[in-house]
Amino acid sequence: MITRLPASLHIKVFLPALNTSALLRVTQNPKMSTSTPHSVPSLQTLVDAATDTINSIPVTVLHQVASAAISSDGRIFTGMNVHHFAGGACAETVALGNAAANRAADQLTHIVAVGNRNRGVIPPCGRCRQMLLDMCPGISVVMVDETTAGTEGREKVFKVFPISELLPGAYKIVDQRYLSSIKRE
Ligand SMILES: [Zn+2]
Repeated sequence: MITRLPASLHIKVFLPALNTSALLRVTQNPKMSTSTPHSVPSLQTLVDAATDTINSIPVTVLHQVASAAISSDGRIFTGMNVHHFAGGACAETVALGNAAANRAADQLTHIVAVGNRNRGVIPPCGRCRQMLLDMCPGISVVMVDETTAGTEGREKVFKVFPISELLPGAYKIVDQRYLSSIKRE
């Protein structure tokens, strides 16, 4: 379902049968409604959730990125990175933990990360790619289409990548006991 939009804008919203390789054009108007009849949040809603989360706090080096992940039933789980010299956690990790706390970690379909200081959508780091591949192998990641990045005055174009495409030749966990332990019992 596509809402009424100006002819120059195109929004495809999340649907169960979404082609995850499809290019998705996203307006920057946060007030634009893109809900489907089934109230499944849109891509814009997911990006907005991460953007609103990181913009909800003062600029600090301790928390510079927020993430939002959506489950198959339309729930959105947000998280913010925690920077610490002893390690800390990426925003995607915290969002995944938030989903797990709500028993939805195995239902996530899409995830996005947004940086502070108006950096917009940013790609996941290598560690997060491995984590997502192992723990949410069916998830897709919203990233900026690099062929359009930095094109001033034009709407941003995002691309949705299955996590498996973001980590070719990935390390495989050899301990099957671990793999079974991270699956839902
Ligand atoms: Zn990361």
